[in-house]
Amino acid sequence: MVTVSLTADSRAWGDATLSCSTSTSSESAEQANRSGWKKSTSAPRSRPSQRSALSHESTVSSSDTEVVRNHKKSARLSSEPHALQLGLTAEQVEPWQRFPYLNYGYRRGGTYLQCLLSLFSLHNETVNAWTTLLSVVMGVVLFFDTVSSLRCSWIDFSPFLLAWAGQTLHGPLSVGYHLFMCKSPVVANRWRKLDLSFILVLNTCATYALSYFTFGLWFTLVWTSLVASAAALGIRNIAALQPKQQLDRRRILGMIGLTCLGYYIPLTLRGLAALALQRKVWPELGIALVVLGCHFTGGLVYATHWPQRHFLGVFDLGGFSHNLMHIFCFTAYNCAYPYLSYLYSQRGEWEAATSGALAWASWGDAASGAAAR
Ligand SMILES: [Zn+2]
Repeated sequence: MVTVSLTADSRAWGDATLSCSTSTSSESAEQANRSGWKKSTSAPRSRPSQRSALSHESTVSSSDTEVVRNHKKSARLSSEPHALQLGLTAEQVEPWQRFPYLNYGYRRGGTYLQCLLSLFSLHNETVNAWTTLLSVVMGVVLFFDTVSSLRCSWIDFSPFLLAWAGQTLHGPLSVGYHLFMCKSPVVANRWRKLDLSFILVLNTCATYALSYFTFGLWFTLVWTSLVASAAALGIRNIAALQPKQQLDRRRILGMIGLTCLGYYIPLTLRGLAALALQRKVWPELGIALVVLGCHFTGGLVYATHWPQRHFLGVFDLGGFSHNLMHIFCFTAYNCAYPYLSYLYSQRGEWEAATSGALAWASWGDAASGAAAR
């Protein structure tokens, strides 16, 4: 009886060890640790029939211990990270790691520290990581430069703070995604989900920031709540992404674009209103066109894999669509600080212009009502 149960358990361990040794990623090791391995190691100890079989106890116990020790050793070895490999071609990495039309410059494996230090070597994520990092640094400089000259209430300061908070929360997660994605499918998926989710958080923060001086506090809060609800739905979809799952680029762009409407709408309305009421094109309408133009161009190159699809091998290490998308989008985002500063300085004129327009509209209504009577 003891012999039979031991054989069955040994087979279970054998299977677990096989799945471990054949797996090439820490994802498989993690999954095996969580499911098969733990069950297998705890099962023999919980069986009372084994404890009561005194004649075989010492043999079973020593075999048991040895198998457990071997199993733990193999689990430890398989979960140990491989050294970071650089300069790989698309054929040398797994399909989930490849990007369309990029053939060279891939990395594979490594510890978190090695992946982090790869920021200082050239591969096909170096430019992505640096553009994000530099954008965050530029955001910090612009934020502190802008707010250092402000003398305003906390509530008028809130749009500046939220614009900066959105960027500062998202930046490190984007850098983390680009640097750690080579580590394993599970790690890549975890950071991808963080990166995408915090783009939606950033868009919600930007909605509040860029609506406040145009819509006023209460309408801004309502509008931001709507955008936050759309972002929450998007984050729920992102949370369902699985390791090795290819991104549906158009769906992702649609989800991000929908939350971008949160600040495109106040930006554009402010630009058009400034043109109609104050006969001004710059900066209101001009900045709106710059932001819309940057996002449209960034989204287009990202979705169409331009330029690398037309120049195979030329842009493998830099200048490909994801790099360009970063540059366009981050440039547009950093326009927010001088733009908000300008809107703050113009709040008196904006109030006068909008109240004048409202008075004119109500006078027009009254005049047409009187003519009708
Ligand atoms: Zn990116």
